[in-house]
Parts: sequence; C-alpha cells; structure tokens
Amino acid sequence: MKKLLKALTPIALLASVTLSAHAADFPVKDKIITLVVPFAAGGPTDRVARDLAEALRKPLGGATVVVDNAAGAGGSIGANKVAKASNDGYTLLVHHIGMGTMPTLVRNIPFKVESDFEYLGMINDVPMTLIGKPSLPANNYKELAVWIGQNKGKINLGNAGVGSASHLCGLLFQEAVKTDMTPVPYKGTAPAMTDLIGGQIDIMCDQTTNTTSQIEARKVKGFAVTSPKRLTTPALKDLPTLQESGLKDFNVSIWHGLYAPKGTPADVQKRLNDALKVALKDPEFIKKQEGLGAVVVVDKRVEPAEHKKFVAAEIAKWSPIIKAAGVYAD
Ligand code: ASP
Repeated sequence: MKKLLKALTPIALLASVTLSAHAADFPVKDKIITLVVPFAAGGPTDRVARDLAEALRKPLGGATVVVDNAAGAGGSIGANKVAKASNDGYTLLVHHIGMGTMPTLVRNIPFKVESDFEYLGMINDVPMTLIGKPSLPANNYKELAVWIGQNKGKINLGNAGVGSASHLCGLLFQEAVKTDMTPVPYKGTAPAMTDLIGGQIDIMCDQTTNTTSQIEARKVKGFAVTSPKRLTTPALKDLPTLQESGLKDFNVSIWHGLYAPKGTPADVQKRLNDALKVALKDPEFIKKQEGLGAVVVVDKRVEPAEHKKFVAAEIAKWSPIIKAAGVYAD
C-alpha cells in the first residue's frame, strides 16, 4: 500500500501543479474564450454577449472572446452545451431570465440550473416591450386590446421557443387578456423580428435591446412596456405600462447573467468575475446598453454568490406565478 502511495504521489503532485499553474495563467495566450449564446445572432441576448465579449477583452489581458450561437429549444440547447462543456473557463454561457423560469416553465430540461453551473455574476436588467406588425390597424394599447377582442382565434404570437423570455411574457399576456393565441417559435427573437416586420406574425414581447431601434424606425408598432415603470429611453418614453393599461400586476422584466460549467476552478471563476466587474464599468459598454434601454448592473448581484441567490429568488418568485397561470410547456 505504502509503495502504491509512493508511486502515486508524484503523479498527484504533477496534476495539482498543472491545475494551479493553469488557473494562475488564465487565460492562456492564444486560447479563445467562447461565450455561448442560446439564441440566434442579432437578438437581445446575442447583442449583450457581443458587447460584453468586446468589453471583456482588455480585463482578460487582450484575450480573444468570441460568441457562439447555439440556438434552439427556448435557450435549452445552448445552456445544455455549456453545462456539459469542459470546465476550464474557456466556454461560458450568457443567458437570461430563462435560468429563473425554465425550471418551472419547462418540464423536461436536460440540465439543472441550480447545480450544473458556476455563477459568475449578473450583467444587466432589460425591460420588455409589447410590439406588433406595422400593418396592424391598432396604434396604441387601447386599440390593440379592441383588435385582440375582434380577432380571437386568429392571432399569431412570435416567441424564441418554449422557455424563452418572449414565451413566458406571451403566455402571461394571453392569460391576462383571456385570449388564446397561436405561438410561432423561432430560434431567437432576431428571426422573429424579421417576420414581425414582414407581417408573417402579429405580435410579440421582446427586450428593448432588440425593439428600441425598430420602434424608433417605425418598422414595428410599440404598444406597451411589460415592466411596472415607464421607460426613459427617448423612443420608448411614451409607451404605457401594461399595468396602467389595465393588466393589473403584469410585470415581466428580463436580466442577463454569465455562467461557467460546474467545477470551473475557483481562481479561474474569480478571474472571470473580476473581468466582468471591469467590463460592466466600461463606458463604451454602458453607453451601448443604455442606448438600448438596458441597465448595467452596479449592485451586489454582480457578485457570484449574490447572483446565485438572485436566480434562486427568481425561481421561487416565478414558480407560483407560472403554476397559477397553468402555463407549462414540455
Ligand atoms: N429575446 C429572446 C427571448 O425571448 C431571446 C433572444 O433572442 O435573445 O428569450
């Protein structure tokens, strides 16, 4: 036994030296860091991730940070890809409120939000807007409500797949206006937006990071904000909230966070969180995000433990709302 231990010790020693050297040098020069986005390119989650990739470069010593769109299944495919990826810090996930709603909303997700990831910190809060195709006869929320009443059974509602933010918002909206609509799922709200502009779908909820410029350019109609407060972004400031439009308690606000596979070395996690904190203070990053109606996180939710607590609270908050609305998906 002693002999075996003696023989193993140098190997174990070598392994631990290699591991800590690896963590101390992170990121190794020329090794690419990939931010997996679980939705299509050009959409809200993708935009946040691309801006963040840019802002992370400097605090990560000039590392190349790229975005990989692993879209589909309402964000589950990309999240699952990262849950099963090598936990060396080079494959990370940018996800959104889906981390807080999928565990209740979707019956069969192939990963565990609470235990398959290391939480690296929160990125931003992003309000949502309710928007419609440009040819809709309605020009404000009141007229939209009338149009919905007149078109029961004929309305198509776009979303980014079962479990996505637009799916959640759409389900709660249908429940609030007591009208079933036909869901049209896409791999993200970027392709859904193309079809909304083209009139193939009628209405959709989406983050302001994707809708602000389209509303401003009058390519789509903005009807309301889904969070409880009106927004200050110039293009959106005249939109009423759904609450003030009569949908009592309607409140859906989106956020984004950064995650690594479970077991990523603690000092690599710390290095990534330190870099995230620097990125979130980058004036260019803040300017881009604010211009699209997003609010970059400045509070304690940027700390991994606090973000994890926040997501757990989101799961606890959304679970009864989703259950009461009976809005599950398989
Ligand atoms: N906005 C999307 C959602 O509804 C996802 C995206 O394309 O970023 O979840």
